[in-house]
Amino acid sequence: MNNRFQVEFHFRNALIFDGDGAEPFKGDIGISDGKIDFVAPASECIEVISDKEYDLAGMALAPGFIDAHTHDDHAVFDPTKIYPKLSQGVTTIVAGNCGISLPPLTLNGQMPPPPLNLLGNSGLFKFPNMASYRKSLAKNGHAVNLVYLIGHSSLRIKVMNDVTREANSEEIRLMHNLLTQALNEGASGFSTGLFYPPNEAASEEEVVGVASAMKNHGGIYTTHMRDEGDDVIKSIDESLSTAKKAGVPLLISHHKCTGRQNWGRTRETLQLLEEHRPSLPLNFDIYPYTAGSTILQEDQVSEETRIMVTWSKTHPERTGQELGDIAREWEVSCKEAARRLKPAGAIYFQMHEEDVHRLLKSDIAIIGSDGIPEDEHPHPRLWGTFPRIIGHYARELGLLTMSEAINKMTGLPAKVFGLGKRGRIAPGHFADLVIFDPKTIIDKADYDNPKVPSEGINAVWVNGKEALNSGSIGVSNAGRLLQSDFS
Ligand SMILES: [Zn+2]
Repeated sequence: MNNRFQVEFHFRNALIFDGDGAEPFKGDIGISDGKIDFVAPASECIEVISDKEYDLAGMALAPGFIDAHTHDDHAVFDPTKIYPKLSQGVTTIVAGNCGISLPPLTLNGQMPPPPLNLLGNSGLFKFPNMASYRKSLAKNGHAVNLVYLIGHSSLRIKVMNDVTREANSEEIRLMHNLLTQALNEGASGFSTGLFYPPNEAASEEEVVGVASAMKNHGGIYTTHMRDEGDDVIKSIDESLSTAKKAGVPLLISHHKCTGRQNWGRTRETLQLLEEHRPSLPLNFDIYPYTAGSTILQEDQVSEETRIMVTWSKTHPERTGQELGDIAREWEVSCKEAARRLKPAGAIYFQMHEEDVHRLLKSDIAIIGSDGIPEDEHPHPRLWGTFPRIIGHYARELGLLTMSEAINKMTGLPAKVFGLGKRGRIAPGHFADLVIFDPKTIIDKADYDNPKVPSEGINAVWVNGKEALNSGSIGVSNAGRLLQSDFS
């Protein structure tokens, strides 16, 4: 006897990646009311009645990608600003990373102190709590799903009169309570950016004091660590200890080993993380490039490191140029050139390709673009991360299988963030889908021309609605605010 299904949309003859890392299989799926109704391998006899049918012969179908690390806190409101993600097949983004979040900080016209200016201008900081941000999201609508973290720098600036010192017990209590409130109002976790000035004076005890708000409530701790160079091991130790003391899962942000003298040390860092896996839910996110990007900081500038300017308030005409060239032209040191360009953003070429390979292969790695949507001349990771991993690292280099690559951007991050019924192609799961050509999918953005859409993404569906078709934005308000559930 045949199985009979009546669905809204019937996708036929696709190469299906289930998101769990299993080998792909040919088959059909049906979706109704925003959810996957059935999944049927080609060998199964089925009868399907549908409102609309799509023949996907030659195409792959996978769960929509989850971008585990973004700074799309404001971009999410605008479908054109979220286009770099949609065009890569991303259906869920995690924002509020690196200690910087919009709520619960309000800045009445003051310039946001770096690195909060990564998110945009002072006018954006207008949400006194998560509830008001959530309300604004609901009113505006958004194209992709959002998971939100509350940033420690934002809390510190809200609560403390001087962020260059450690918080006192009263300030820790206030931040703890603000985080608790945000978790009650829809936030999913807490992020630090201990590398950055507004956050660096925080001790481990302070971070534990705030993060422990998640102990009973549930939530994930993500950290842009204090140091990703010479002291990377010390920083990982601190992160592990913080998460254990606070009793929360740990996600290390954009893991890397920076500086020539630290190349190859991912062997050490992976071994250390491996040792702690039995005692702590533990992952890291990574983007597939050997350059990082953030604000331009003089203390990060050296004559040896190649640095490219992504924006500059004082010298906007220098955007896209190399710091070394600018310094030569001005006949000053690179540090002095950086000082004159500030406030500014930069791309730092500071990692080794072998480290990127080693980290990408790790089975605790998930994928996060760390793209900065407001940058004038952004790092290409904003537009290329996901197709680059599938097309370049999986198909071309064979570093991992396409199924493994897709698992790191679907099923695995859904588990890491406690997103039940997401990240898998299975009946009852939400219909977040990406349809792509496995033979051609590839990134096209590079350092010289960073704003170029990837190739091979055919269509993207968010909660059962077509959000992107052949490069054109479709339904732009199908996204939802998702909240982690670790119960
Ligand atoms: Zn960061």
